[in-house]
Amino acid sequence: MDSKDINMKRRSLMATLFGTAVTGVAASSTIAQAAPAPAKVPIPVQEIGKLKLSEEEWKKRLTPAQYDVLRREGTERAGTSPLNNEKRAGVFHCSGCDLAVFTSDMKYESGTGWPSFFTTIPGAFETSTDYKLIYPRTEYHCARCGGHHGHVFNDGPKPTGQRWCNNGVALVFKPA
Ligand SMILES: [Zn+2]
Repeated sequence: MDSKDINMKRRSLMATLFGTAVTGVAASSTIAQAAPAPAKVPIPVQEIGKLKLSEEEWKKRLTPAQYDVLRREGTERAGTSPLNNEKRAGVFHCSGCDLAVFTSDMKYESGTGWPSFFTTIPGAFETSTDYKLIYPRTEYHCARCGGHHGHVFNDGPKPTGQRWCNNGVALVFKPA
């Protein structure tokens, strides 16, 4: 064993003894080499306003699947939205009126088969109580066009504990 080996051994012993400090240095150099984390997406500043259209106008503007969810409070089949796997940085907009409703920083993997978020862009949604199932649920809809997006539950992750369970067809994703 030459002196270099002994030095290595000593260094690893030191690493064990002084785990916090040495590991701290190692961890930061690992992060520096890793691919950069997705940039934090700034929350868009926007005028919400109101968009009111007739049923005929909505039918012309939306696809049948969008119309069913947004205007008829339908629910898309779980696992069908390509947005379930959308992990890029960007902003999710209402597919009815283009209002920015979530940023990618608000999205998380809930495992439900619907795009899920732990919070929303402030003011993007209004809520109501929905009695379609046996138990009451909190329905939410776009503050601009009134289009139904999904339901919000209290079993989400920190820091809010909220799970905004959104129909993917009600959203349009725009990469940052
Ligand atoms: Zn909308």
